[in-house]
Amino acid sequence: MKKHTMTTLWDEIPDDADDLLVVRGGFRRYLCLCGKHLPDRDAAELHAMETNQCTTCLGTTTEQITPNFSQPCTSCAATGKRKAQLSWELAYAEAEALITVELVRKLITPLTGPFRLSEVADAVRATLDLPVGRLPVGPRVRDVLRGLEAGGELVLVSAPDELLRGTTVVLYRDPYWQHAAK
Ligand SMILES: [Zn+2]
Ligand SMILES: [Zn+2]
Repeated sequence: MKKHTMTTLWDEIPDDADDLLVVRGGFRRYLCLCGKHLPDRDAAELHAMETNQCTTCLGTTTEQITPNFSQPCTSCAATGKRKAQLSWELAYAEAEALITVELVRKLITPLTGPFRLSEVADAVRATLDLPVGRLPVGPRVRDVLRGLEAGGELVLVSAPDELLRGTTVVLYRDPYWQHAAK
């Protein structure tokens, strides 16, 4: 079986580069072990799909976010496999249907101080009687809380765990929020 391990080749990133473009796949090319040159992110994702590999980490099991920062791929549970990525997507869709904004709102309404993502995720699991690992509860709850934050109901109060590019591209592992002052 032919190996399709893709290596990321970074271009020079100018200081004033668009940060979102950097984290979303810009400023890089890819070289596959099979000899294929992949000039951009789209070409690399297509080749990953053709070779049954995860399109987020391109089969490498780690997601390269900036030249200096990578993390285990969450899309495929760090397996690098397209099949695992697809089942993750299905599980996420199931979590999305089950864990509604209303449910999360009901659980956080009584909380007066700051609360952590992991605490809310635990409360959701307890309410729905979901064993740990059954569904991607944390990622879904994070998306709901970020949505409430964007809508002005919540304020993010924790400091980022990692600064990936200055203070514009940052990473939170277990962030905490509190209700916005009324
Ligand atoms: Zn290849
Ligand atoms: Zn992956």
